[in-house]
Amino acid sequence: MFHMRDKELSKLITRNLKNMNLNIQVMHVCGTHQDTIVKFGLDSIFNECGVKIIQGPGCPVCVTTPEEIETGIKLAENGVTIATFGDMVRVPGAKKSLQAVKAGGGDIRIVYGINEAVELAEKFDREGNGKEVVFMAVGFETTAPATAAVLLRELPENFSVVSCHRYIPPALVRILGMGEIALDGIIDPGHVSVIIGAKAYEEISRQYGIPQVIAGFEPIDVMMAVWMIAKQVEEGRGEVENEYTRCVAYEGNEKALKMLDEVFEPGDAKWRGFSVIERSKMVLRKKFDDFNAEKKFEDILAEMEGMEFKEPPGCRCGEVLRGLIPPAECPLFGKACNPAHPVGPCMVSVEGACNIEYRYKND
Ligand code: SF4
Repeated sequence: MFHMRDKELSKLITRNLKNMNLNIQVMHVCGTHQDTIVKFGLDSIFNECGVKIIQGPGCPVCVTTPEEIETGIKLAENGVTIATFGDMVRVPGAKKSLQAVKAGGGDIRIVYGINEAVELAEKFDREGNGKEVVFMAVGFETTAPATAAVLLRELPENFSVVSCHRYIPPALVRILGMGEIALDGIIDPGHVSVIIGAKAYEEISRQYGIPQVIAGFEPIDVMMAVWMIAKQVEEGRGEVENEYTRCVAYEGNEKALKMLDEVFEPGDAKWRGFSVIERSKMVLRKKFDDFNAEKKFEDILAEMEGMEFKEPPGCRCGEVLRGLIPPAECPLFGKACNPAHPVGPCMVSVEGACNIEYRYKND
C-alpha cells in the first residue's frame, strides 16, 4: 500500500519513466484527472519524461450538444420550469444560454441533484399551479444511477427528465476508431469505473491492442497509471489494468448497473465535437415515456426539427474534446473566452480543459 502523497515514490516513478526513454501520448477522459494533472504540475513532469498527456471527451457538460441546450431553452421559453446544474445553465446554446433565458424571465432553477428537482415539482403539485418541472440530467455512468433511482420510484405527474447522460466506452472506441490522434494508452476514469468495472474496457483493448489503466485521483494515482501504461508499451502489451483497486471492482457496481439497464437503453447520439456515436447515449426506455420530457413535450420540440445548431463562432471546443489541440491553442483562450465570460462549454465547466487550464495557469 502506498501513501497518497508519497514524495519518494513520486520521485522513483519519475526516475523510472525518464530511464525508459519514452515518446508516448496518453489520453484520459476525466475532468477530475485533468484537475489533478494541471493543479500538481504533472503535465510538465510527464513532458520531461517523454509522455504527452491529453484530456479527451471527459467532461459531461462539455460534450452536451447545442441541440440539447436548445431543448432546455425551447421548453423554458414555453413556460416549463427547467432544473439543472449550475454549469449547464451557463453553457451557450446557438444564440443564448439558459442563464440568458432566466434573465429574460424564464423559470430556470439551479439544483444540486435530481431530488431537488422532484421536490420542486411536488411543491408545484401541492400548490396546484399547473407548472411542469423538467430536470436536465447530465453526466456519465457516475451520475446516471441517481437519475435511474429517482425514475424507479413514484413521481409527481408534473415531473420529467431530458436525458443527456452518456456512456464512456463508446466514446473511447470512437476516438480510437477515428485515428485522428495517435494514442499509446488511455487512463480510464475512476468514478465511471466504480460503476462499470474494469470488465467494461476489455473489448476495447482486445480490439485496438491499447493499454488502459483505471486510475484514482491523487497525483500518485495518475503517476502510477502513466508508469503502468509505459510498462505495457515497453513490454508490447495492450491490456486493462486497475490502479484504483481500492474503489473499482472487476464487475463494477452490479446494483447500479442493473438500475441503469432497467431505466435506460443505448441510443445513437452526437457528442459535441463528434458526429453521431453509436449506442453512446442513455435513452429512457419506453415504459418511462410519461417522465421523458422529449416525449411529453414533443409538440413543442417538433418546432426544432430539422434546425441546425452551430458551435459558438470561433470556439474550438470540438478539437479540444477530441484531444487535437490544447486549450491555449484556441485564439479566444484567456482573451474573449474566460471563466467570467465563457464562449464555449470547456471554459464554463469546472471539469472542462479550458477552465482548468485558465484557473491554474493564468494567475
Ligand atoms: S478557450 Fe473558449 S472558445 Fe476556445 S475552445 Fe476553450 S471554451 Fe471554446
